[in-house]
Amino acid sequence: MDKEDEKYPVSRREMLRTKLGLGLAQSLGYALGRAHGVGKHVENAFREPVPPSPPAPEIAVYLRPPGAIDEISFTAQCTKCNACIEACPPKTLVPLTGVFGKAFETPVIDPTLGGCTMCDDRPCAKACFEEGVDIIEAMLPLNMGHATIHRSACRSHIGEECTLCIDVCPIDQAITQDWRKIPVVNQDICTGCGICVNSCPVEPVAISILPMKYRPPKSVQPDHDQNAQGPSPD
Ligand code: SF4
Ligand code: SF4
Ligand code: SF4
Repeated sequence: MDKEDEKYPVSRREMLRTKLGLGLAQSLGYALGRAHGVGKHVENAFREPVPPSPPAPEIAVYLRPPGAIDEISFTAQCTKCNACIEACPPKTLVPLTGVFGKAFETPVIDPTLGGCTMCDDRPCAKACFEEGVDIIEAMLPLNMGHATIHRSACRSHIGEECTLCIDVCPIDQAITQDWRKIPVVNQDICTGCGICVNSCPVEPVAISILPMKYRPPKSVQPDHDQNAQGPSPD
C-alpha cells in the first residue's frame, strides 16, 4: 500500500475507475438500448426520477337539498329555475352567490336561515321533478353532510352551560354531551340538516356544516317496460 492508499482507504484511482465504469455502462446501455429500439428506457434509467403528476383539482362541494345527486351532475343539469327554492317551506334553500362558474345561482341550504326540516313530502324534490330535471331524488339518502363544532367559539368549551344545539336537534343521539358537558356530534347519525347552526347563540356561530363530499349518482329507477310480461314463447 503506497502513501496515498494509507491516506484514502478507497483510493482516488479506484474512485476514478468506478466513475469510468459507470460512465461506460451508461454509454453502452444507451447504445445497446437505441440499437434495440428501447433507447429512451435505458437513458431514463440514469436520469432523475420523474416527479409524480399533481393531483386532480378538488371539486367544490355545497350543502345541497336532501337527495341531491352528485355535485358534478347536479351543477351540470340544474337549470336554475328556482322551483325548489320557491317550494321550500322554511325558506332555507337559496341561490348560491359569491362563486363563479356553473354553480352560481344553483340551490344551496343556508343553515343560518333555519336549516332543512326534511319535509316528509319533499317539496324541493317534487318541484324539480315537475320541472323535468329530477336532480333532487326521493330515492337517494337524505344525508347532506355533518355538523362540526368549533371548540374555540363554543360556550360549553369555555365552561359555560349551553345545550341549545342539543335541544333543537331533531335526530336522536346525533349530538350529545360528553362527561365534560361538551357537545359532541355523532357523524354517523347527523344528517347535516343545519338546524343546530341556527340555534347557536355565539357570534360567529360555533357550528358549521361540512357538506357531503361524494353524493351518490342518480338512482336507477326500475324500468317498468322491461318488467312487463312479454309475449308467450309458444
Ligand atoms: S326537504 Fe324541505 S326544508 Fe329541506 S330543502 Fe327540501 S323543501 Fe326545504
Ligand atoms: S328545481 Fe331543480 S332545476 Fe330548478 S333550481 Fe331546483 S334543483 Fe335546479
Ligand atoms: S347535529 Fe345539527 S346538523 Fe346534525 S342532525 Fe342535529 S341539528 Fe342537524
